[in-house]
Amino acid sequence: MSHTLTVLWTIEPQAAPRPWLACRRCRGARPFECSGKTRLNANGRRLDAWLIYRCADCDDTWNRPIFERQNVRNIPPETLDALQNNDPGWVRQVSFDVEGLRRESGRIEEFADCRVTRRVLAEARDACTHLELVVHAPLAVSIRADRLLSAELGLSRSRLTRLEEEGRLTLQSGSRKALQRPIRDGLRVVLDLSKERDRDEIADRARGILLPA
Ligand SMILES: [Zn+2]
Repeated sequence: MSHTLTVLWTIEPQAAPRPWLACRRCRGARPFECSGKTRLNANGRRLDAWLIYRCADCDDTWNRPIFERQNVRNIPPETLDALQNNDPGWVRQVSFDVEGLRRESGRIEEFADCRVTRRVLAEARDACTHLELVVHAPLAVSIRADRLLSAELGLSRSRLTRLEEEGRLTLQSGSRKALQRPIRDGLRVVLDLSKERDRDEIADRARGILLPA
């Protein structure tokens, strides 16, 4: 008899990270935002591609290099197609690539706001005493695991820490202190609720049918 409710949480960040760069017009460091537009430049069979960013204050542009002087044969056709059509899905993927942005700027502003969509993978067949969360994060997100769990399950961070210390909250991501780290795709969270009197409410918040107070 299974006592475990398993829910898939898909986490999507709401705002793309902003690199801070020296703006020529503002004469100082300013945050730049993705314009959603790409630029492709051909020189013979060599291609350059950029994603265009704009200064948040004055609209001056910065061209973020995607690739430079690449032979057209080495570019995957779907990438070429996305670049030629400002494909919104492709642009979104690249604009959230915070590791790529770090190569261009020493200061990246990240936003923790995210939207969580839930899908029950397995209901508990008997009384629900355990909750398993499978976290899917297709884009990089900067929210810490404890903040996410606190906001979505309505549990204080001190209670989460206590549950972890008691061995009733485990994060299977292969690293210690995972509760204080940004969440990663594939993170699994297992919560033993057998001693929690409000376990039904916690389970309903995990399913998304009850909102945190
Ligand atoms: Zn500016």
